[in-house]
Amino acid sequence: DQITVQELANRMAARAGEVIKALMKMGVMATITQSLDADTAELVVQEFGHRARRVSESDVEMGLEGHADVDTDLLPRPPVVTIMGHVDHGKTSLLDALRATDVAAGEAGGITQHIGAYQVTLPNGQKVTFIDTPGHEAFTAMRARGASVTDIVILVVAADDGVMPQTIEAIRHAKAANVPIIVAINKMDKPDANPDRVRQELLSHEIVVEDMGGETQDVPVSALKKQGLDNLVEAILLQAEILDLKANPNRTAEGTVIESRLDRGRGPVGTMLVQRGTLHQGDIIVAGSEWGKVRAMLDDKGRQMNDAGPSMPVEILGLSGAPSAGEPFVVVDSEGRAREITEFRERRQREKLAGAAVGARGTLDQMLARIQAGEQKEVAVLIKADVQGSAEALQVTVLKLAHEEVKVRVLLAAVGQITESDIQLAKASDAVIIGFNVRATTQARELAQREGVDIRYFSIIYEVADDVEKLVKGKVAPKA
Ligand code: GDP
Repeated sequence: DQITVQELANRMAARAGEVIKALMKMGVMATITQSLDADTAELVVQEFGHRARRVSESDVEMGLEGHADVDTDLLPRPPVVTIMGHVDHGKTSLLDALRATDVAAGEAGGITQHIGAYQVTLPNGQKVTFIDTPGHEAFTAMRARGASVTDIVILVVAADDGVMPQTIEAIRHAKAANVPIIVAINKMDKPDANPDRVRQELLSHEIVVEDMGGETQDVPVSALKKQGLDNLVEAILLQAEILDLKANPNRTAEGTVIESRLDRGRGPVGTMLVQRGTLHQGDIIVAGSEWGKVRAMLDDKGRQMNDAGPSMPVEILGLSGAPSAGEPFVVVDSEGRAREITEFRERRQREKLAGAAVGARGTLDQMLARIQAGEQKEVAVLIKADVQGSAEALQVTVLKLAHEEVKVRVLLAAVGQITESDIQLAKASDAVIIGFNVRATTQARELAQREGVDIRYFSIIYEVADDVEKLVKGKVAPKA
């Protein structure tokens, strides 16, 4: 009998990516769905600081509550939506307007609290969860930590302004994460609103709306006049149905930290998005390297909750400290267990920081190892150049280098310095950054060091071509 990488990760409350990395260090190239034999699984378990207990010769039991969900356990869950778009195109206004559509909002005791995410109940009883931090920065920061919480991105484009630089960035980020986009064409109340121009402009960024024969839904709205919101919600529900979003509510809870802070009166407060299972008051949870017993649980209207099921955001009290946004959380069966896991994670974090300086080439080495092992079929690159012409030329050059076995994907080809946002996007997508006649900011350089993101600097186009070609062929030696 065997255990898949995903299942093993679930049982250890770790991310599958970390398990794959641990395997790679042991010289085993594995994918997320790959099955491991009990011996290999036990080695991985020890590597993560757990004691493996074999229930039978073939089974590995970690003493965590996690278990695989079978199809029949799965029930529909509400979609989780993030709103992105250019500054001033109406992201905040749209979040406010959508929030006001909540039929549960008027109920007794319901006073809006900003907890980082909110859920609306529609007149027909269906629910939609919105991440309350607009923009792609938070989205990408979470993804850089390996978290994927967003099912659908709403791309807001002002009908009087059209596609702007941050619109394009948002498209890149959503595409890099493989999250479907719904376009909300906002400010339709304005006299100079021109939705057709928006649709036309989106074409050159590979967003083809339904009217133009594509698959992306577009909905004209006015956040200000609260027009078109029903259609937007309908589009979200339709997309959710296509995605067939499901989770098992009848298991111990797992999910992601959306935000957290230290409250003077209440101590550490964290907003958790439950992604599988149901979180109960009194549960013992581990979130990143913090843990605690859920002392109280509040929803986005400040109401006390006893339970929170899949896609439900809740604010919890009782943690030992404030975990970082994007960290996974999991419910465990005892305080001793929670301490064991968090102590282990702290130890590992210290080791990681100590090793960060030498390990900065990690991403590239790992990418090469995977390409050589035939595991990785894609080289992702992010291009920053001094002028638009160079960025475009590089993109064309690099894309041409793909060969039958290895795809080349350009996440971004833009003008300007290499920023922290670029590092996070690269980290989240395992990409190499190419700087053409530009440098990285000091903060970006430091972040790249810490996160092991590879930045390569060039000033001659054919040298870029050579380098990426070697990468595609899996032969390049890491640059010192
Ligand atoms: P954000 O930066 O994307 O979050 O944009 P905001 O929601 O802060 O909106 C920017 C400005 O556009 C504000 O002055 C809003 O009042 C205005 N605005 C937002 N939505 C609409 C709309 O549907 N119609 C009009 N006329 N103005 C809007």
